[in-house]
Amino acid sequence: MKILITGGCGFIGSNFIIGQIKNTENQILNFDKLSYAGNLKNLQSIDDHPNYQFVKGDICDFKLVYDILKDFNPDAIVHFAAESHVDRSINKPMDFIQTNIVGTATLINACNNYIEAHNKISKQINLRFLHVSTDEVFGSLGYNGIFTEESPYKPSSPYSASKASSDHLIRAWHQTYGFPALITNCSNNYGPFQYPEKLIPLMIANCVDEKPLPIYGEGLNIRDWLFVKDHCDAIYSVLKDGTIGETYNIGGNNEIKNIDIVNTICSTLDELKPRLNGSSYKELINYVADRPGHDFRYAIDASKIKKELGWSPKETFETGIRKTILWYLENQHWWKNIQDKTYNRKLKPKEIREK
Ligand code: NAD
Repeated sequence: MKILITGGCGFIGSNFIIGQIKNTENQILNFDKLSYAGNLKNLQSIDDHPNYQFVKGDICDFKLVYDILKDFNPDAIVHFAAESHVDRSINKPMDFIQTNIVGTATLINACNNYIEAHNKISKQINLRFLHVSTDEVFGSLGYNGIFTEESPYKPSSPYSASKASSDHLIRAWHQTYGFPALITNCSNNYGPFQYPEKLIPLMIANCVDEKPLPIYGEGLNIRDWLFVKDHCDAIYSVLKDGTIGETYNIGGNNEIKNIDIVNTICSTLDELKPRLNGSSYKELINYVADRPGHDFRYAIDASKIKKELGWSPKETFETGIRKTILWYLENQHWWKNIQDKTYNRKLKPKEIREK
């Protein structure tokens, strides 16, 4: 297969491309704007491979996208490109509207025009387009309940609302033009190459740097965590064997409170890299005022992809988090180089909010 990847220099996209180049014969074209979150170093291990090529560009650029489609002539497209950090979306929502909504609309419009142009000259093409989305589109759960593919959309943040909009656009293009799309909605990922602003890499980096570990509210929010390589395997299963027009939920069946994640990171680092003063990294924990609109709990029912496509995660949270911590310890040059580009939301101490 020839696969066009958007956003392949980010966290999940680069893990997906490395897996493809190492484990398949597929040819990959990576199209990425290189925002603050895009990093060519993520792909250093494969960037001179004959099956890999990179083009710098923006999914909002219709002409460039159309030219790439004509030149590369892909069998499949996997759309990762997005603004992806909820905290940044609270401060600069219009960046999220631009890339996640306008960018996705521009991309699918270019793809659809390309398909229709082929069909006019009766050269049928069997393109498959997979849109990588999030479970955050469904909003927040209480202590009970689980998201299925039929759950109603109820996004809370500018990020999740922009991803929800992009999902709706994909479905509308499928219903209206027969656009050959698949959608995946996945839970929180963790693993190598995740930008050190997201919970797990931020906590590891701050431990190593002996900085405070900021935890929103009481740290009781619950997420379902999935190791990034398991997400990439799931995406490839859906890309190859999923039914066009369908949505697939992907999750790790690992519901964990934020505070338990941070405690696990601290105790693993206490063992792997003990502090010079002999105390536990847990002493760096610092509770801060909660994120506005912070969803309480996400949980994913992934039984459809398991039953229909035979996918299931290979890593448990225990094995995945250990691999991740070891990777961040062994690759400090990678995250220290980009750390200063990390967004710094002004975090208020918890007491101030409560007064
Ligand atoms: P990321 O922020 O690490 O990477 C995003 C990539 O997209 C970057 O390389 C960036 O340069 C590129 N990009 C941004 N705007 C672009 C534009 N206008 N044109 C071209 N490229 C652009 O994100 P990620 O964590 O790898 O997430 C990838 C996708 O998966 C996103 O669509 C996200 O919504 C979705 N997702 C992420 C998670 C998660 O836990 N990280 C979970 C479920 C779904």
